[in-house]
Amino acid sequence: MKPPYLITKEEILNFYKSVNPLTHKGIQGHAVIVAGSYGKIGAAVLASKSCLKSGCGLVTAFTPKCGYQILQVSIPEVMVVTDENSNFITHIQLPLIPKAIGIGPGIGQELGAQKALFEFLRTNTSSLVLDADALNILSKNKSWLELVPQDTILTPHQKELERLIGKWDSESEKFQKAIAFSEQYKVIIVMKGAPTFIINKTAVYQNTTGNAALATAGTGDVLTGIITSLLAQEYEPFQAAKLGVFLHGLTADIALPQKGYQSFIASDIIENLGKAFL
Ligand code: AMP
Ligand code: MG
Repeated sequence: MKPPYLITKEEILNFYKSVNPLTHKGIQGHAVIVAGSYGKIGAAVLASKSCLKSGCGLVTAFTPKCGYQILQVSIPEVMVVTDENSNFITHIQLPLIPKAIGIGPGIGQELGAQKALFEFLRTNTSSLVLDADALNILSKNKSWLELVPQDTILTPHQKELERLIGKWDSESEKFQKAIAFSEQYKVIIVMKGAPTFIINKTAVYQNTTGNAALATAGTGDVLTGIITSLLAQEYEPFQAAKLGVFLHGLTADIALPQKGYQSFIASDIIENLGKAFL
């Protein structure tokens, strides 16, 4: 394998779009986050908030009924649509067709959630980010991967990646398998880790930001929100993945001197997004 390309500030500035002073929320893009289940509504909060704080104009969260008040109180700027089920999603019914949808943080793998994902993929026309349990559900039902649209961004951590592509004996085999998977299903894989690599068919990019402060609950949910937001703002999927992982890591680099490795939590990523964009 050739050495990976590096995702540096220079690379990012080749395609970064500054905000038009005459824009309005309708132009900035509408994103939907499908996330949460009983006991994991925090995942929906983190992903929806990071989505809104990454520049898109409108965010709708789709979550089971038990998440309604939690979301409305913790992020009043986010609109909430609930599933008919109390504790986990069973049928993704949206009042709009948004540009981008991020699915997976905290949704669980109940049969109802599996069915919801299958029915959704059969009819969906939006650009997608698939994370967490959405990936685990696809790993259990590999034939459904055929329903995943081209250029969908998958954001597995190492365990989720292993479930998707199978075990590897060496780092080079891991990359070979991930490249083959990306080519077969025409998807972009954000291989989260230290560091994160992004694989788009045979192109491999390595992120240059981030540190061990990110090794804490919920940081992946925040990444899903950021990348979904960038997709809603009409960044090309490969660009959205690169800019998303770069900014996500940069927040941890910015916060490290004040927070230290130990006290940094996923909400601190969201808090530092503004500085990272600047
Ligand atoms: P998740 O496991 O889905 O919550 O995602 C964890 C996020 O934190 C990913 O974006 C990882 O790349 C990042 N992360 C976790 N540990 C480290 C580390 N030691 N150094 C850099 N990034 C990390
Ligand atoms: Mg995760």
